[in-house]
Amino acid sequence: MESNARLFKRSDWLNKSLRIYNRIMTEEKELAVHAFVIPVTPFQQNCSILWCTETKKGAVIDPGGDIDQIITAINKYDVKIEKILITHAHLDHAGATAELSRKLNVPIEGPHKDDMFLIESLEEQGKKYNFSPAESFETSRFLEGGDEVTIGNQIFGVRHCPGHTPGHVIFFHKEAKIAAVGDVLFQGSIGRSDLPRGNHQQLVNSIVNELWPLGDEIRFIPGHGPMSTFGNERLTNPYVSDFALGIDREVSDAVKKQETSME
Ligand SMILES: [Zn+2]
Ligand SMILES: [Zn+2]
Repeated sequence: MESNARLFKRSDWLNKSLRIYNRIMTEEKELAVHAFVIPVTPFQQNCSILWCTETKKGAVIDPGGDIDQIITAINKYDVKIEKILITHAHLDHAGATAELSRKLNVPIEGPHKDDMFLIESLEEQGKKYNFSPAESFETSRFLEGGDEVTIGNQIFGVRHCPGHTPGHVIFFHKEAKIAAVGDVLFQGSIGRSDLPRGNHQQLVNSIVNELWPLGDEIRFIPGHGPMSTFGNERLTNPYVSDFALGIDREVSDAVKKQETSME
């Protein structure tokens, strides 16, 4: 049972994330990629639907659970889902992958093969956290850093970002300036590294070496909580800001402006 406070927090949160998306969509109609987020499971994981505006073909990233809500969103936006993409194989991100893949009859791409031990343990993870049945899945394609995945006519880059899990990958589209980063980076925080095969220093290295070079202006959908930009996190994140890591660099006015414009 959820307490009232928790339910309130949940809807407050959802509305906030919807507001951000709606604003992006109205302000930037010309974007090649559109996105919508559905917080799923008791962990409020940001399952996202990304689609190519030209073809209306899309992908579901990290279907952790609550399949009915995901399907409702797909229908609402009238997107033709052609694949499922997985950032990493934790329960809240990947628990309903097998079921959704069967329901929509689409293939699965990701994560990196180093998350195989987590894919194999999904059922066990589900029992441990008392989830509705979680299932292991078979991916059509393990991903490596430097790979590309397509969504409609759009090409997304893949980066391997170990540290939260060893096989964690992220997806980004440079022109549309959007990334889905799973549990690598959050607004104001970073992923846990105390879970099996996590490693704090490796996670920080992934953020600095794999995310930051993509550019300050990249907006990212984190695995949990509201969106932010890499530039904003380089300014303000207590774990990985340039200041916290002792990185010396000039911050452009555009980045400084982001800090005040993000919610
Ligand atoms: Zn995770
Ligand atoms: Zn998560």
